[in-house]
Amino acid sequence: MSRTQKPDPEADPFAPPDITTEVRCTQCGRIYESYLIQWAEQQVDGEVLGGWACPTAGCNGQGFGQDMVPTDPDYLAKQDAAFKDIRPDDSVF
Ligand SMILES: [Zn+2]
Repeated sequence: MSRTQKPDPEADPFAPPDITTEVRCTQCGRIYESYLIQWAEQQVDGEVLGGWACPTAGCNGQGFGQDMVPTDPDYLAKQDAAFKDIRPDDSVF
């Protein structure tokens, strides 16, 4: 079984935002701008899997909002406000 369909970086829910924000990788601890997050593909059992990955060599951090989290504690609140989804319990990093 093999698939020819390639994963779509734009459709990935963990893609970095259009407007760059500073992020910290929880895997390697490095702090950098989110535009540096790289799309990486690998072939597993004939299927091409893709994901947004930490640009640090040897780090396996994956996904904006997963392993790469914004350093701005207000970032998520701003995103929520954009979606008019106001959380009563807004925890600070
Ligand atoms: Zn990392």
